Amino acid sequence: MRLIALPAFADNYIWLLHTQRHALVVDPGDSAPVLAWMQEHPHVQLDTILVTHHHADHTGGLAELVTHTGAQVLAPALEKMPVPAQGLQQGDRLDWHGLTLDVHEVPGHTLGHIAFWTQPPAQEPILFCGDTLFSGGCGRLFEGTPAQMLTSLDRLAGLPGNTRVCCAHEYTLSNLRFALVVEPDNQALQSHFALCTHQREQALPTLPVALQTECDINPFLRSREPSVAAAVRLHNPMAVDEISTFAALRQWKNDFR
Ligand code: ZN
Ligand code: FE
Repeated sequence: MRLIALPAFADNYIWLLHTQRHALVVDPGDSAPVLAWMQEHPHVQLDTILVTHHHADHTGGLAELVTHTGAQVLAPALEKMPVPAQGLQQGDRLDWHGLTLDVHEVPGHTLGHIAFWTQPPAQEPILFCGDTLFSGGCGRLFEGTPAQMLTSLDRLAGLPGNTRVCCAHEYTLSNLRFALVVEPDNQALQSHFALCTHQREQALPTLPVALQTECDINPFLRSREPSVAAAVRLHNPMAVDEISTFAALRQWKNDFR
């Protein structure tokens, strides 16, 4: 089982998981990188497409990929897709050639957003989390509330720490710059920033990242930590409890340049 990040657009990743003969992709916003990979791997058949949410940069390649491959599309039951799809909801389990994938509902960025978690044999687990959790950050709240997003991030943070987090965007360095303003004394954050800077200098992805690392460095997974909560309150005195602190942190990031 191999896991690959196919770059798309300016900063999207289309994650591809494959065996010797079968492949699945997650959030193909563009068909071209997937079709190019398939041309280089003619013995691997793309048979499954997973979608985390309805935004065009995650669904734009669906129609062409389905036409080319006949792959089945599995997508949030609560969201509209540009092609026919099997709808998924909380607790659903998929079987892909013996690999079990768990579906988690993670509303916030969009209302129907889902994530996929799986444990390949003899490998670290994998999380496909779309635009819910980014390295050092989280998705913007286009449809859901801060409370929904906090609950969704709590759900993801409860997965095993060695899970490989596969986010849909390379936003890491700009997220970490903000995180360092929130928690300038966080040593794990400082060293992760150095590591990711080095990766990007070589044009390498900063992903996947271990979930445990995210729990140590990502302010949106750490909004209850005294260091984070205090920084948020200093920035915005309206932050008085868990939800308002998380909301103020998200707003702070929206305004941060
Ligand atoms: Zn999105
Ligand atoms: Fe996106």
